Amino acid sequence: MEMLSITCKQCQTVWEVPKSKKGGQVNCPSCGLANEVPGASDAGWFYGLAFGGYALVGLPLGVMTVICMLNGAFGTAICSGSAFAVLTIVLLFILLGS
Ligand SMILES: [Zn+2]
Repeated sequence: MEMLSITCKQCQTVWEVPKSKKGGQVNCPSCGLANEVPGASDAGWFYGLAFGGYALVGLPLGVMTVICMLNGAFGTAICSGSAFAVLTIVLLFILLGS
């Protein structure tokens, strides 16, 4: 497991914490003060990517589906609609699975 070096902001003690603590808080082994672990948590990046990808690809597909349905282009609407549905399900699985 990869480790990160933390320096206590109160007593300057340096110790190592697992990288999985990134973005969280750890207590100094010397003085007990809660120190923030630098860097965004992996989960934050993960959710950012999931939502960013969904917003970039999924939402335009959803809008396209509605526009095609309003214009009577049902073939295209079904295509983009099913792609939109698959993306939505994938996002839900990501959110529920982690
Ligand atoms: Zn300390």
